[in-house]
Amino acid sequence: MDDYRTIVSRCTDCGNCADVCSICRVVDDSVYSPRSKIELVGKLEDGLFLEEEELDSLYLCTMCGLCDDVCPEDIPLSDVIKYERGLVAVRGEEPEKTPHIIDNILEAKNPGGFDNSKRMDWVSDDLEFSDDGEIGYMAGCWISFKYPEIAQQTVKVLNKAGIKPQLIEDEKCCGLFVTDNGHTAELELYAKDYTMEIENQGIQTLVVSCPACYGQMNDMYPRLYREPEFEVKLSMEVYKDLIEEGKLELEETEGELSIKDGCPVSHLFNIPREIVDEMGYSVKELFEDETICCGAPAGVKPNYPEISEKIGKLAIDKAKETRDGMVTYCPFCQYHYEGIEESKDIQMQDLTTLLHKKLK
Ligand code: SF4
Ligand code: SF4
Repeated sequence: MDDYRTIVSRCTDCGNCADVCSICRVVDDSVYSPRSKIELVGKLEDGLFLEEEELDSLYLCTMCGLCDDVCPEDIPLSDVIKYERGLVAVRGEEPEKTPHIIDNILEAKNPGGFDNSKRMDWVSDDLEFSDDGEIGYMAGCWISFKYPEIAQQTVKVLNKAGIKPQLIEDEKCCGLFVTDNGHTAELELYAKDYTMEIENQGIQTLVVSCPACYGQMNDMYPRLYREPEFEVKLSMEVYKDLIEEGKLELEETEGELSIKDGCPVSHLFNIPREIVDEMGYSVKELFEDETICCGAPAGVKPNYPEISEKIGKLAIDKAKETRDGMVTYCPFCQYHYEGIEESKDIQMQDLTTLLHKKLK
């Protein structure tokens, strides 16, 4: 494979990447375009220092991957940006909040630096689990610590369909933030150990609630270590199968919802729409033929909160036009939107919460 510098030189300045980038929607300056970010590779490899706005540009990226999908030259922009961030990290020039969050993940096993022994506090007596079943459940950091009710509702939905999942004995962060910031080598052993721990529990299908865990374990773990022997499925994929198999019956409702998709699972676009359709809702798309990132991941929210909030408002403003508000299925999107004042003007609910409410 060509080196990144050679790959980046294939850029024809077509502008496709800027058209889909959420940063470019709120910051009107070409230095922040995806193309400008990847063109820093030569300067970084030559050991030259970046101007302040170039450094900001590199870290004003949520790793949504939308630019990768539209580049006619097949330039893997988000991978180039991760590589560039890795070069900056070695020089100790990362934005202030980034190293602290990475340390939290590597040491405390979650980005918030919470006591990881408390991450299973959501497990309650009314939930049924198996000690050795083939299906495992990983709630993920945001749900375990911020939205424990979503983990409980997920297990209740699975229990209703006759599934008693196995919990991960030593659940921890998937490490997406670490690799998104170019600290690839630090996560190799972590990914290997975590993969083997889950395999050693005999789990064959790992149900995850968070699109970030899904993307990281399906796409990045094979690059860091190897393909896991278990399949990773997002909870909503499992719900859809269970509805089709007649194992979950839903009350019919009339209404209209918008759906905020999770960037790492854009290929699962139809699944949440089919689930809300089963409940009787029609879907009003937030942006015709377009996906938009919430504006928070990969360090944008902690390091650039004002820009992150501006991007978040784009979806909230659109959702105001939808009768019954917006459904999310990414806990980080939900957390980000809830912190924006304007979100109080819309109804916002999690897909699992809605499904659990509509179970017959
Ligand atoms: S990954 Fe997303 S946020 Fe980053 S440059 Fe590409 S489109 Fe913009
Ligand atoms: S989409 Fe690809 S070719 Fe077009 S400007 Fe962006 S990086 Fe260059």
